[in-house]
Formats: sequence, structure tokens, C-alpha cells
Amino acid sequence: MDDFTKVIVSENDISRKLDALSAQIREDYEGKDLLLVGVLKGAVMVMADLARRMPPTVQMDWMAVSSYGSGTKSSGVVRILKDLDADLSGRHVLIVEDIIDTGITLHWLLGNLRSRGAASVEVMTLLRKPDAVQVEVPVKYLGFEIPNEFVVGYGLDYAERYRTLPFVAILNPAVYGD
Ligand code: 5GP
Ligand code: MG
Ligand code: MG
Repeated sequence: MDDFTKVIVSENDISRKLDALSAQIREDYEGKDLLLVGVLKGAVMVMADLARRMPPTVQMDWMAVSSYGSGTKSSGVVRILKDLDADLSGRHVLIVEDIIDTGITLHWLLGNLRSRGAASVEVMTLLRKPDAVQVEVPVKYLGFEIPNEFVVGYGLDYAERYRTLPFVAILNPAVYGD
């Protein structure tokens, strides 16, 4: 049995997309002190590869959150497991995300970070599932629109596995026992 049915974003696709997005971000934030905020653990890979394309003065900070919900549905009730180290007042903040599915978590995060007095808060996401977006989240920098399938790799897990793959692939439903 193969663990994946299809690679939907290749290592080369990711690399070229990050080249383009980082060029745009460098231009938009020229002369500004930029703080990248990643949500653990899914954003680790995209954060590392984006940050290495930025000027060396760029800063990284991390949050860990858990969303409560019934079953597979996110309720929008989010708890902070690990907060940022940085004080956001007056800062230019770019949230770096792996994937937006319903958008519920990110919608909450945007409200939370905006209430801390940042000069600006914007969003970059590598992946977005357009069919599943229930909450409008303003994404300034978008990598790839992907179909409404469960994907793994490049930070994204199934039961903590597959995060280290250099590509994004559709997980074979046989892996989770269908
Ligand atoms: P939402 O946008 O629904 O609030 O939640 C997004 C989070 O759900 C992501 O950060 C990720 O942890 C998880 N998620 C959503 N879609 C997928 C997917 O296709 N694969 C994996 N591995 N995680 C996903
Ligand atoms: Mg995420
Ligand atoms: Mg996960």
C-alpha cells in the first residue's frame, strides 16, 4: 500500500512559490522591522523556508493553540497553549500559516493579535482549501489553492507523522483505516 495517493504540491513548486512570495514580502516591508508569527507545529517548515529568504534582521516568534469543537468541527473556541514571547505594540506582524481549512482558528488569531496594538497584522498561508472556507480571513500572501482533501507533508501531519516530507500529498484513506 502506498501512503499517498497523489503529490499535489512538489518540492520544486514550493521552492519557486516561496521565491516569488518572499520577493513580494521583502518589497512590501522594506525599511520596516518585520516579525513573522508561526503557529506550531504545522507552520514550522514554511516558516523556516520563508524566513531564510528574508533579510537577516527578520524575527520569528511562535504560538501554540488548541481549538475546541465537537468531533471534527472546530467551534471557534481557542485556547493558547504557548503565547508569543514578543510584545506586539507598534510591530509589523505577518502570520505564517501552513493551511487554512475552515479559517476559524486563523480568524480568532487575527482578532487576538490585532487587539495587542500591532502596527499591522497580515496573513501568509502556503495552502488554502477554497471550498471549505466558512469564515472570511483576509489572506495577503497565498501559496496554493488545493482541493478539499486531507493532505500531509511539509509540516502537516496525520497523527504526528509525515510532517518531514518535502512535498504536500493526499493521504491514502487506507492509512486512517477507511
Ligand atoms: P481551520 O482553518 O479549520 O480552523 O484549521 C486549520 C488547521 O486544521 C490547520 O492548521 C491544520 O492543523 C488542520 N488541517 C486542516 N486541513 C488539513 C489537512 O488537509 N491536513 C492536515 N494534516 N491538517 C489540516
Ligand atoms: Mg496551522
Ligand atoms: Mg495536525
